[in-house]
Amino acid sequence: MQAKTLQWASELVDCIHFLHQKGFAPATSSNYSFRNPEDGTIMISASGIDKGTFNTSHLMAINLNGQALNDKRKPSAETLLHTMIYKRLSEANCVLHTHTVFNTVLSAALRQNGYIRLEGYEVLKGLSGIKTHDTFVDIPIFDNSQDMSELAERIENYWDGHQGLHGFLLAGHGLYTWGKDIASAKRQIEVLEFLFECYYRMQIFQT
Ligand SMILES: [Zn+2]
Repeated sequence: MQAKTLQWASELVDCIHFLHQKGFAPATSSNYSFRNPEDGTIMISASGIDKGTFNTSHLMAINLNGQALNDKRKPSAETLLHTMIYKRLSEANCVLHTHTVFNTVLSAALRQNGYIRLEGYEVLKGLSGIKTHDTFVDIPIFDNSQDMSELAERIENYWDGHQGLHGFLLAGHGLYTWGKDIASAKRQIEVLEFLFECYYRMQIFQT
């Protein structure tokens, strides 16, 4: 890897270990990527790696169509969702996907609703472009699928009519979010996961 690529790769590995320690990546689940600042290709986690022992050699280069470049390993099963985001958002340079208890439970419970509304919280200001607590953010929920082309197309169709997304949920599955760099994407994950837990715990006070 070239120096700049290696710097991003090391930063992503630190982020993956942090998320794993938080319990955001059970078993070998969850997948992560960044846009290589050297050549615009995508560096993505190889399939089936325990995120507790993940290192830079577990990242592999793919093109924007999700095809491996000079690598016999299989990229993450959800590669096409990563490339869909990079193709759509030129400003996205890191995509993070986590499976947590709160994002799994809420996305399953609110699937019929189609979205989860996060409203009135100070921590919303951690999301890119948000300057006040006095606002709301809707995170759409899509039915899960094992057919990534079909799923990516469904998300793209929704996205055409809804600008300014901060992330999206797959029902009973997990969260996707992104950022201009690894630190920004990590911040988005932390904010959204924190607010999902708040949303869940607030149900105690509602009848
Ligand atoms: Zn997943």
